[in-house]
Amino acid sequence: MTRHVIIGGGPAGIAALETIRVLAGQAASITLISDEPAYARMALPYYLARDIAEGQVLIGDQAYFARQGVEARLGVRVQQVDTQARTLTLSDGGMVSFDTLLIATGASPQRPPIPGIDQEGVYTFWTLDDARTVIAKGHGTPEAVLIGAGFIGFIVLNAMAKLGWKLSVVELEDHVLPRMLDAQGAKAVEGWLRARGVVLQTGCHVREIARSGSGKLSLALSTGATLTADLVIVATGIRPNVEFLRGSGITIDEGVVVDDRMQTSIPGIYAAGDVAAGPDLLSGAPGGGPLRTAIHAIQPTAVDHGRIAGANMAGREVRYPGSLLMNVLDVLKLHCASFGRWQEAGREVTVVYNPTRPLYRKYVWEDDRLVGALFVGPSEDVTLLNDVGMAKGLIQTKQSLGAWAKYVRAHPTDLRRAYVGSGVANTLIQRTLLGAPARDRAYRVGGVQPPPWHKAPHALLVGTRPARYTELKPTPTPGIGKST
Ligand SMILES: Cc1cc2nc3c(=O)[nH]c(=O)nc-3n(C[C@H](O)[C@H](O)[C@H](O)COP(=O)(O)OP(=O)(O)OC[C@H]3O[C@@H](n4cnc5c(N)ncnc54)[C@H](O)[C@@H]3O)c2cc1C
Repeated sequence: MTRHVIIGGGPAGIAALETIRVLAGQAASITLISDEPAYARMALPYYLARDIAEGQVLIGDQAYFARQGVEARLGVRVQQVDTQARTLTLSDGGMVSFDTLLIATGASPQRPPIPGIDQEGVYTFWTLDDARTVIAKGHGTPEAVLIGAGFIGFIVLNAMAKLGWKLSVVELEDHVLPRMLDAQGAKAVEGWLRARGVVLQTGCHVREIARSGSGKLSLALSTGATLTADLVIVATGIRPNVEFLRGSGITIDEGVVVDDRMQTSIPGIYAAGDVAAGPDLLSGAPGGGPLRTAIHAIQPTAVDHGRIAGANMAGREVRYPGSLLMNVLDVLKLHCASFGRWQEAGREVTVVYNPTRPLYRKYVWEDDRLVGALFVGPSEDVTLLNDVGMAKGLIQTKQSLGAWAKYVRAHPTDLRRAYVGSGVANTLIQRTLLGAPARDRAYRVGGVQPPPWHKAPHALLVGTRPARYTELKPTPTPGIGKST
């Protein structure tokens, strides 16, 4: 029986184990080792905002692992990997042998070397324990300072704003969301936040954090200004969890280097998720050429990686087309999204900007193909939300738009026609990662089964058999077709 071992119980590890179980059947032994419970970090801000209960951040409990036939060793760290003997040394003194191994150990937050950063009241927001601490300390409506205005920091900012906390943000770069938006898009976000009472300090850094006489924290900024806070959240970037691999012979640069089967430099050893530098969909030369690797550090990429690695561990030959760099974010009901190569200088762009709404769209072109896009606009703007999804499809499929490119340049707020007309919808509907439709995975926690929501009209609407659409009863439109 092949022994598959997975290190890490995050989205990448869980996606891999489910794929192995489906493709290899019961004729495979699967062991998952993780030093934390199995949960999705991206759910933590919703837990902070009390939108969900703590149990809802979990993506696997013991009953789930038993159902999957997986030996889950939670609360245990892997300390060393011996790639010759194919064994792992564990923090509880144990040793585990493997035939195939998946490294899905994610990343950890970085703390900048600021004097006073290690004191009580200054926290990262990365783990379930961090979330519990911040919830326990954040009584009433505290004053909070966020250090680092990046994607993760702003997701946490959104949760803190929902709780009514008084918020300030310090960002080293000249504008907020520097790796997600350009200066013009960020300006729209900054205006929106200031209008909602958030204090923004950009282009500066925190020199020191001290406890003032009043018991509050006091942050001295490089500009000479001072901010006070009950709580400080540090969100200044992450680094992949690779320390335990040093000396193992596995190639590491930005993260664990993998090929398009998610295999590392050692045969039979794979890596997935935030720890893995995997193929970047848009990095190859036009018309082909090898893809560069990148760490995108988002959950969809972690799940894709996990599924591809799991399929290859189960003996299939499945290659990954690469992940699309994307970030989608709600900032106090202002929607922000970025896709692909939006940062590239010297390319033709189409821009729509209206600072008063605010509304900002930027499309980056390579001939008649969309290779990058930025969006900023109010969350209640349904057209914007639809177009965000369609822009992703247009970029992801690398579709030549032909005459539709001219149309989009002239009508940049109407992507719908180009999306359908150029055949992108049709291409996407036929595309699967592993060569077959994904299975309904049901719920993973508490043995709960999905409610029977498949009412007949809904099943027809989401179905893929066009002929059956004629079975739908037309919905009467008020005022139309009535003879009075
Ligand atoms: C607050 C927050 C909000 C986010 N929001 C979004 C979002 O909206 N959209 C999005 O796409 N992404 C979001 N992300 C990012 C997303 O959560 C990550 O990309 C994703 O968790 C990566 O999954 P993973 O399985 O690679 O790693 P992880 O989820 O980090 O899981 C890895 C696990 O391995 C464990 N581990 C590490 N080393 C060892 C070892 N030596 N031995 C045993 N176990 C080990 C870790 O403790 C961890 O439990 C968010 C992240 C955070 C923190």
